[in-house]
Amino acid sequence: MSGTTYLSGLRVFRQRSRQVGAAVGSEFELLGAQSLTFKTVASLAGFALDLLRSRPNHIVFKSLTNRILDERDLHQAPMKLYKEGKSDDIVTTFLEDIRCSFPHIVVTDVGHIAVMNGRTTKRNCDAGNNFYPQKSGVIELNAILVGKLVDAVAAIKANRRSSPSTYDMEVYRALHVRLGITLAHELVHLYTHYLVRRQQSHTPPNITYGPYGDDRKGESGRYWEERLFGGYIDMQDKVEPDPSDSRKLVRGPPVIGIWDGHQRKLWQIRTKALDDLLGREFSKYLGDQLIDHAGATSALRPERWNDSRYYLDPFTDPRDRAREKDRAGGWELSAAQVNYLVSEQVRDHAPKYAVSRTELQRFSNDPTLAVTLRVM
Ligand SMILES: [Zn+2]
Repeated sequence: MSGTTYLSGLRVFRQRSRQVGAAVGSEFELLGAQSLTFKTVASLAGFALDLLRSRPNHIVFKSLTNRILDERDLHQAPMKLYKEGKSDDIVTTFLEDIRCSFPHIVVTDVGHIAVMNGRTTKRNCDAGNNFYPQKSGVIELNAILVGKLVDAVAAIKANRRSSPSTYDMEVYRALHVRLGITLAHELVHLYTHYLVRRQQSHTPPNITYGPYGDDRKGESGRYWEERLFGGYIDMQDKVEPDPSDSRKLVRGPPVIGIWDGHQRKLWQIRTKALDDLLGREFSKYLGDQLIDHAGATSALRPERWNDSRYYLDPFTDPRDRAREKDRAGGWELSAAQVNYLVSEQVRDHAPKYAVSRTELQRFSNDPTLAVTLRVM
C-alpha cells in the first residue's frame, strides 16, 4: 500500500482566464485526487522537497542563511536564536513546515507566467509576524510545461505493457527534473521570506548568480542553483531529424543545460544523471558540482543554445506568445487573487491531500505506478 504520509496539505489549482464580470476565485479550479495533473505535480513537490532535504542542500541552505544574516538585521525569534548560536535547526524547521503544509500551487499560463517556468508571489506575514507556508505565498508553475509532462506520463502509462517509447521517457525525465528544480527554486524564495518576514524586503543584491538581479536586489533562487548544481539551470528543446522524413527537422525532447555565470560555458545533464536524480541519489553529484562530474554532464557549445538549427526555446510556440500578450488575466496574480488563494474560505474548506513518500519516489522513476492522494 501507500506507506506513511509524507507531503501534507497539498492543493493544486488550474487557472484559466476569468470571464468578464465573474467573481475573483472562479478562475481557479481545485484539482481532485483522480487528476493526472495533480498526481504529476505532487511528484514534482516530492522531488523538490527531497532535494531540499538532502545533505548537500542542507549545507547550501546554511550558507544562504548566513549570507542573509550578514546582510540583514533580523529580529524574528528563530533568526535571533540562530544568530546567537542557540539554534541550529532553522533549515530543518522550515522544511518540516513546508512538508506538513505545502504551499498552494497554481498551474497557469495566464499572463507573463506563460513564458516563465515558475514564480512565487509572497505575502506579508500576519501581525504576529508568523510564517505559515499556505498563507505567506503562492507558487505558480507554467501550465504549458506541466501539460507536456502530463502528456508524457499519459503516453508512458498507455504503453505500459510494452516498453515505453524512448521519446516519452526522455521528455518525462527532463521535464520532471527541470520542473522539480523550478519548484525547489520557488521554495528557496519562500525560505528567504521565512528568514526576512517582510514581503517588500528583497534579497540582498550580492546574493545572486549570472545575469540575474540588479544593484537593488539579488536572486536567491539563482544563487541556490549555482551553489547546488555548479551553475544556473536552463532548458531548451532539441532539434532533431523528423523520424518519418530525415530531411526535415522537428522539435525534439528537452535538454537541461547548466550555465556558468558569465555564459561562456554550458553543460548538459546526462540521461543517467537525470535518472539518478529522480532516484534521489543527490549526494552522488550535488554540492561538489555536477559540472565537474564527467559521468553526469557533458559540455555543449554555448553558441548553439540559441541557434534554432540546434535548439528551440520551449516557449516559442506562437500560441504561448499570444497568451503572454493576453493581459485580460493580468500580468501576474493580483493581490485579490492571492488573497483568495490563501483565504480562510480556501484553507479551511477546500479539500486538501496527503501522499506517501514511497509512492512519490517510485513514481519519479516509473510513472506507470500509482500515486494515491488521500483527502485529509
Ligand atoms: Zn527566482
